[in-house]
Amino acid sequence: MLLFIAAAREKDVRNAFLGGRAGLERAARARAGCVTRASTHRRDLAPPARRDAFNAYVDAHQAEYVRRLAEFVAIPSVSADPARRPDVVRAVHHAKAAIEALGGTTALHDVGVQPDGLALPPILTASLGADPAKKTVLVYGHLDVQPAAKADGWATEPFVLTEKDGKLFGRGSTDDKGPVLAWLAAAEAFAAVGRPLPVNLRFCLEAMEESGSEGLEEFLASKPEVARGVDYTCISDNYWLSPTTRECAARQAPPLFPASGARPPSLSRRAR
Ligand SMILES: [Zn+2]
Repeated sequence: MLLFIAAAREKDVRNAFLGGRAGLERAARARAGCVTRASTHRRDLAPPARRDAFNAYVDAHQAEYVRRLAEFVAIPSVSADPARRPDVVRAVHHAKAAIEALGGTTALHDVGVQPDGLALPPILTASLGADPAKKTVLVYGHLDVQPAAKADGWATEPFVLTEKDGKLFGRGSTDDKGPVLAWLAAAEAFAAVGRPLPVNLRFCLEAMEESGSEGLEEFLASKPEVARGVDYTCISDNYWLSPTTRECAARQAPPLFPASGARPPSLSRRAR
């Protein structure tokens, strides 16, 4: 699955500018080079005709993928800003609707309030497919972003996805809205060309990652069913700095926590 995602990303959200932490942004801007292409580990085991149909579908929908990314980036889901909390929640519902449009099942989970009484955004879990004959991949992603303003040094409006010199700039475009959308785009492409998903997909999408993933660890500890039956977990949350840094579009990881239901390791700061 990741191979297809990588294939899709190469063209769909290529050159998207990282939306990560300020320090990394400054470093990336200083390099004057945004991201170019995702992982080159592209390999498709499908017969050529089917592969061609998939790739042709993806190629034909480039503009649509970029449009969707722009729509998502336009939601200023800044988790650190209490005034933006409605936008953070809106981003969660945006992802929920996108998964449901693919026929997926979704659930929102209330995870309580912050110490100041502000309600945390719900965590979204979802699934696409439940074939016991297939492996199950749990995808983690996040729907919130760091603050951003032109006054911070952005050359373009951060919440307006802007193409410049063949690159797409926008807060959250790669961290982490683009990667989330890429999974959905891949699933959509499979369905569109009549190919079954090779794996069952599950999602755990939070919207407080940029604020310490508040509520996530407790949620996972209280909901072992989120990881039950999961064969692989993909932390789909990475930076695409440049081809030379060899950052991958996404990493695979072992199951998020043991099937025994033991308390998961701390997730407040996942591997980057
Ligand atoms: Zn991230």
